[in-house]
Amino acid sequence: SPSRITNFGAGPSALPVSVLEEAAKGLLNFQGTGIGIAEISHRSSEFTAFVRNVEALIRRQLRVPPTHAVLFTQGGGSAQFSAVVMNMLARYRLLHPDVPTGDVTMDYVVTGSWSKKAAEEAERLGGGQVRIVTDARKHSVSGKAFDNIPPHSAYAFSKDPALIYYCENETVDGVEFSHDVASSSSFPYHLLPENTLSPLVADYSSSFMCRPIPRLGDHAIIYAGAQKNVGPAGLTILIVRQDCIVDVDAAVRCGAAPVPITLSYKTLFDSKSLYNTPSVLALYMTGLVLERMETMGGMEYYEALNKKKAEAVYEVVKVGSSRGVFKPKVKEGSESWMNVVFDVIGDGAEKRFLDGAAQRGMSGLKGHRSVGGIRVSLYNAITEEQTQQLVQYCHEFIGQET
Ligand code: PMP
Repeated sequence: SPSRITNFGAGPSALPVSVLEEAAKGLLNFQGTGIGIAEISHRSSEFTAFVRNVEALIRRQLRVPPTHAVLFTQGGGSAQFSAVVMNMLARYRLLHPDVPTGDVTMDYVVTGSWSKKAAEEAERLGGGQVRIVTDARKHSVSGKAFDNIPPHSAYAFSKDPALIYYCENETVDGVEFSHDVASSSSFPYHLLPENTLSPLVADYSSSFMCRPIPRLGDHAIIYAGAQKNVGPAGLTILIVRQDCIVDVDAAVRCGAAPVPITLSYKTLFDSKSLYNTPSVLALYMTGLVLERMETMGGMEYYEALNKKKAEAVYEVVKVGSSRGVFKPKVKEGSESWMNVVFDVIGDGAEKRFLDGAAQRGMSGLKGHRSVGGIRVSLYNAITEEQTQQLVQYCHEFIGQET
């Protein structure tokens, strides 16, 4: 569509045009029902069948094992900061009714502003002791920047924590765990406490379905808001291992805190994610995106595409860095594929960069307000051509500035 510009925003973010066109039709008439998708009952057979298909699309593409449920809810990643704590504390309480609350630990791997926020929410809720397993700032050159994934030697997990939390991709800071197991920036699975059922929780909000999820079956909970890679805002996707779907009311009788009914994973599971009115439109659009993704070739296709896109942008940042125009913000080996962050050096240079990009129809490049600089978000819907357009512009800009 010629009226559209390229949106490199961090979320909500670009969606495929073909999906938007299809969704526009569905808004008027959903699957020939004569009723628009935003108007149809969430209990209608057409819509419930659609939801089951969204679930199947996720299961197939991520190869979710039968040990895990795929659930849908609302409230975004932020609501899950709370929900994971409450559900995992309830689970722990049922497993260990005699452990005093003060001895219950929750391990947080802090690699950026989102995992920091998650740890703060766990602290707020109480019910256990929050332990920071590692704080990436301590491993930065400045001692205060989230610019790296700490080396494996920096982790100290508790013996039997109620949960172990990490954020796979830090959207603001642009750091991400490497999927190369040989890399020191990979998640240290081999150091996890040897529970038969690991309480490992991962925030995949900004990297969900951009590539396969390593060790998916070893996770207790994986969650993501849809609004980066797979759909509009309003839908939260959960992958929860069956043993983490617990009777939260029975846990209360063992001394756990009550869990609001809409935050309980058991509520979502028992109702097949339809306890209350879901985000019907967001689920619909996400379904359309996921269908398209499967047609394109699924996770293997997106992994190859996203790798190529990220490498192209990091390459030009490197060129700009060698010419004193750009400065990468993230340590080599810890770079995110989804959010590439760098500074533009010199007086007024950042503004010149952003203005030039805007003139060429590229937006959403301003870094998060807490850290500044430039952030290029390369979610699934950003094409190789759009990425090349940005890379080309970066080369031009480097030329102009030197
Ligand atoms: N975690 C991460 C990694 C995120 O990027 C975000 C949103 N940008 C959140 C959590 C919070 O998600 P939401 O806005 O959907 O609550």
